[in-house]
Amino acid sequence: MIAYDLQCTNGHAFEGWFEDRKAYLDQQKKGMISCPVCNDTTISIIPSTFAIKSSPVSKPIEAQLQDDHIKKMGREIIDFVEKNFDDVGCDFAKEALKIHYGVTEPRNIRGVSTKAEEKTLKKEGIQFFKIPMPAPPDSDPSADS
Ligand SMILES: [Zn+2]
Repeated sequence: MIAYDLQCTNGHAFEGWFEDRKAYLDQQKKGMISCPVCNDTTISIIPSTFAIKSSPVSKPIEAQLQDDHIKKMGREIIDFVEKNFDDVGCDFAKEALKIHYGVTEPRNIRGVSTKAEEKTLKKEGIQFFKIPMPAPPDSDPSADS
């Protein structure tokens, strides 16, 4: 089973579980996947970006996450983020706000956010980064070198 972060055309993000990538593509083509919020069946994967926020105590991490570095480091930075950042999934904006207002302990978090949530975070003066993620690997074994 694999999990995909999915998004409808109205920007609702949700998680979908599929047997494999082909199963996802089949179901997506047939319109069998629908948004739990608005029932939209035009669904796409959001592998391209996810949002992360580092805690104020870890300035060096922020310095490493400049756009240039992310592009250069690619897989390394993603591994780093996966190991060092709490995955809060769709609650990213909520968690970032909680940390911002001292409701929860400052920590590194990552997750997905909608455009509307990003606007709110910017308005609140919360810094976060968007990291390009590689597309989910195709299940073609011959492509493995
Ligand atoms: Zn929706």
